[in-house]
Amino acid sequence: MSGEFNLIEKYFVNRQQLRKDVLLSAGDDCAIVRPPQNVSIAISTDTLVAGTHFLVDANPAWVAHKALASNISDLAAMGATPAWVSLALTMPEPDEAWLKPFCDSFFSLADYFGIQLIGGDTTKGPLSLTLTVQGFVPEDKALRRDGAKVGDWIYVTGMLGDSKAGLDIILNPTLKNKPYSDVLEERHYLSTPRVLAGCALLELASSAIDISDGLISDLAHILKRSQVGASIDVSLLPISNELLQFVGDVELAQQYALTSGEEYELCFTVPEHNKGSIDSALAHSNTKVTCIGQIRPQGHFELHQRGTLLDWDLSGYDHFKA
Ligand code: ADP
Ligand code: MG
Repeated sequence: MSGEFNLIEKYFVNRQQLRKDVLLSAGDDCAIVRPPQNVSIAISTDTLVAGTHFLVDANPAWVAHKALASNISDLAAMGATPAWVSLALTMPEPDEAWLKPFCDSFFSLADYFGIQLIGGDTTKGPLSLTLTVQGFVPEDKALRRDGAKVGDWIYVTGMLGDSKAGLDIILNPTLKNKPYSDVLEERHYLSTPRVLAGCALLELASSAIDISDGLISDLAHILKRSQVGASIDVSLLPISNELLQFVGDVELAQQYALTSGEEYELCFTVPEHNKGSIDSALAHSNTKVTCIGQIRPQGHFELHQRGTLLDWDLSGYDHFKA
């Protein structure tokens, strides 16, 4: 786009301290990086499109946070430590009033996680962002989706359901007069990628995934790849007081927790012999974790409330029966 170079120079170049493993950053034809020895590189790409993943008039600072946090969350789900990110930005016009808060927020989160922007692309078109993140994970230790075994315990980090309530409010602003709507709307955009928790789980968890489509759908990916089933006690789901007040009903809050997407919490499984180590291992990561159920043989899936089976019709539920 016209003025592209000025924009890139002004907003994207020299905004962070150089990581030692970045030999050449944005400004040349390619970035040059040097990974440490004995690590594997975890790489993930995600796109956010205005109108699909965020509203065109959404707060640019929140959009930046959501874009980077959702990508870093993929690294966290593998137990990887964030290192480098590239950003392909498409926007209709060079819009500095949008770019300034976007970049301030982007670099503040990037600095927090020690991830460096090493390059990207800037083009004209409908607003969208594509990020590629790269991180380090000890060789052969990455947390994958295919390692869950029958008898393993199922855990989640943080609280579940808030993001869906936030999305309800974004799509239907009349809900803004309900309790805690401000907090919940913000929570939809400003999730916390569970990087420290992911790293702490490297030696303990048998599988992990981050919750982007909803607990039920994402757990289904673990079950399918690991060829197992699951039993979930919905009374154990971690639900915030804000969500409970907002929806006004425990059962509805539990259903939000099961289906809420874009939470960017981790769902992971832990063998019985590692269960006792989870709390102390995660104490340093300042992350609450909750055991919500157990892995069962393939073909068995149940939602129950302290032993009483439930027959809730939730989107994604059918994945388990396949
Ligand atoms: P090329 O034509 O070789 O693709 P560009 O003009 O697209 O080069 O980019 C020039 C330099 O600026 C490159 O090093 C690229 O990585 C960097 N860059 C472009 N857009 C961005 C962006 N949005 N964020 C970070 N770096 C960017
Ligand atoms: Mg280019």
